[in-house]
Amino acid sequence: MIEIILLGTGSPLVDPLRAGPSTLVRAGGRSFLFDCGRGVLMRAAAVGAPANQLTALLLTHLHSDHITDLNDVITSRWVTTFVPTPLSILGPIGTQSVVNAILSSLGPDIGYRLAHHDDLSWDPAPVVEEVTDGVVFDDGTVRIIAGPTDHRPVDPSIGYRLEHDGHAVVIAGDTVPCAGLDALCAGADALVHTVIRADQVAAIPLPRLTDILDYHSSVEQAAQTATRGGVGTLVLTHYVPPMVPGAEDEWRALAAEHFAGPIELGADLHRIVVGEGS
Ligand SMILES: [Zn+2]
Ligand SMILES: [Zn+2]
Repeated sequence: MIEIILLGTGSPLVDPLRAGPSTLVRAGGRSFLFDCGRGVLMRAAAVGAPANQLTALLLTHLHSDHITDLNDVITSRWVTTFVPTPLSILGPIGTQSVVNAILSSLGPDIGYRLAHHDDLSWDPAPVVEEVTDGVVFDDGTVRIIAGPTDHRPVDPSIGYRLEHDGHAVVIAGDTVPCAGLDALCAGADALVHTVIRADQVAAIPLPRLTDILDYHSSVEQAAQTATRGGVGTLVLTHYVPPMVPGAEDEWRALAAEHFAGPIELGADLHRIVVGEGS
């Protein structure tokens, strides 16, 4: 079985109820964190997934809302491990330079802690692998495939397909419908897709908001992608504008016009399991 937990269902818009974009996927005793938005480790703590237990952090793209707390993941991993176990980060081209800049900003803190703790003798530098497509992780239990998505002008952006024990889950990230995402989705048990309400965003006369219509999938487009891929369950997250409690059925109905399978969405920590019993 593969467990999906929507750690943060928010967006760049600060919301008192929703952490920033982040999804935890657990399979075969491994824990994978996809993106690390605002407040991610608070939510991860709620489901027993501390930074020092992560198998890897995978980034879909380098938009700020998806990496807001990357510094916290790096530091928390470092200060709660007792032998050198560098965090593994997979992400698009450009990830290494972002990580280098964060490490630079943490320079004073790293110096303080190294000077203060005799048993801490290594630095927090993660092992970064910049990926584009193909198999990017395979330990014999879990296999992860990356594929290009289309979030231009944010470029590159990538989606991931995690496979375990005959089941597959796709993490789309932010993207418009595209061939790269379709290829990842083919026959997957679940698709976790970030969405915006195009009808609501288009009605707000603010260019800063209506600009986002051209590089995100609407709820309806995410549903169409799921249908094209023959996906089992559609999981919606990253709600823009923030989905108010009680509006779940309204969002679900928009997707249901284009996708006949189960549609999951909700509050932070919403949990979906695929392949139960296997
Ligand atoms: Zn984005
Ligand atoms: Zn986003």
